[in-house]
Amino acid sequence: MKALDELTFDNRFARLGDAFSTHVLPEPIAAPRLVVASPAAMALLDLDPAVAETPVFAELFGGHKLWAEAEPRAMIYSGHQFGSYNPQLGDGRGLLLGEVYNEAGEHWDLHLKGAGQTPYSRMGDGRAVLRSSIREFLASEALNALNIPTTRALCVIGSDTPVWREKQERAAMVLRLSPSHVRFGHFEYFYYTKRPEQQKALGEHVLAMHFPECLEQPEPYLAMFREIVERNAELIAKWQAYGFCHGVMNTDNMSILGITFDFGPFAFLDDFDANFICNHSDDQGRYSFSNQVPIGQWNLSALAQALTPFISVDALRETLGLYLPLYQAHYLDLMRRRLGLTTAEDDDQKLLERLLQLMQNSGVDYTLFLRRLGDESPELAVARLRDDFVDIKGFDAWGELYVARAAREGVVDQEQRRTRMHAVNPLYILRNYLAQKAIDAAEGGDYAEVRRLHAVLSNPFTEQPGMESYAERPPEWGKHLEISCSS
Ligand code: AMP
Ligand code: MG
Repeated sequence: MKALDELTFDNRFARLGDAFSTHVLPEPIAAPRLVVASPAAMALLDLDPAVAETPVFAELFGGHKLWAEAEPRAMIYSGHQFGSYNPQLGDGRGLLLGEVYNEAGEHWDLHLKGAGQTPYSRMGDGRAVLRSSIREFLASEALNALNIPTTRALCVIGSDTPVWREKQERAAMVLRLSPSHVRFGHFEYFYYTKRPEQQKALGEHVLAMHFPECLEQPEPYLAMFREIVERNAELIAKWQAYGFCHGVMNTDNMSILGITFDFGPFAFLDDFDANFICNHSDDQGRYSFSNQVPIGQWNLSALAQALTPFISVDALRETLGLYLPLYQAHYLDLMRRRLGLTTAEDDDQKLLERLLQLMQNSGVDYTLFLRRLGDESPELAVARLRDDFVDIKGFDAWGELYVARAAREGVVDQEQRRTRMHAVNPLYILRNYLAQKAIDAAEGGDYAEVRRLHAVLSNPFTEQPGMESYAERPPEWGKHLEISCSS
């Protein structure tokens, strides 16, 4: 266990130089205080969880203090936003404080979001509000607990500093951890500004730091692109399988590591709805739930374009072609497991699609349905769940197919089936209304609810006594909360 002043820094990205990032100091927020910290994320830095309660913790992550070895940098990148190229984005309100090594030899970027203005702030104030900081914190740690690759969140620090959005709010900072903060948009920036040497330096850095095994391949860049395609196919399969809607899949919000990155107006589905649009500002539904699959491919094509100086167009095209079949294989595999199936049959995809259509038509809660399907034997579970459907006849027909399909798996011990299914079907997910309740309390200065919700979501597959209300469907007011990009 380490104390805060014992972290070991090695700022590899900063050493790439001023063409890649700019030195900027954090601007402190007034009266910094701990809102919530993640013991699991602190363990990644070998930090004793008790240090979160010390004043110096809030000072460090509220921008008042800095380690002597930290080298705060605002990164430069661009990207495609809602399909259009934006030539200059960059860290407008976040800073890479430095890279820290843990005892296992892993390195973690310390990124402070909401740290004030930078040369890339454009018209923005460089701040993040408490509301969005809490949402990013909870989502990062909840996705991680669901085994969905994601950046992590160490803590949220609240403050008295006023910020103006639609109304006056308070500034906060989130400390984000990731093995890398390089985005698709980093490669796009150097490609579109026609700086091949810098693009090569970036490529070599990313290969050496994050894809060392690709350096042993005859074409390292191609091997890396293939790996990125594979990771994205798997990531998006997990989003779709668990009902996670990212909301702003711009290429500047896509991690080169294929992990969930940059949380804005995201949402988990309550009722199953393939057409769900979680971002209130997304008028066309470009980033609707089901569009995440083709948009994943669109984003990879944008990255492929930026990699044309290194890889032949034919090889890029062929590698991009892997995305959809890989996605489909991962998705079907995950959904078979969620349905409690351990073997594969040709008609499983149809069985699944039919179920999703029935859920869509009846507005059935996606998470709870799958959890309850494992509670009892297939026969008893479908008999109990049929009441949730408007089209009962349609569901009964599906239920018969499902029971027969489950029977073809052979004799299964129900106790084992439940354990196996509950291990992949969470009881607790970050429903928007739960986040909203925690945010309302935190805005009033009470952080107990954020902390409780974080604790519940850290163990999403295990029933927790006394926490029944966190597993409920949203109340009417909580069903259609409008979450915009403003954060
Ligand atoms: P996001 O929608 O959070 O992914 O941000 C898109 C771009 O806008 C990034 O370059 C951010 O750094 C920048 N940005 C977002 N909010 C602010 C803000 N309040 N001040 C400065 N820049 C911002
Ligand atoms: Mg972003």
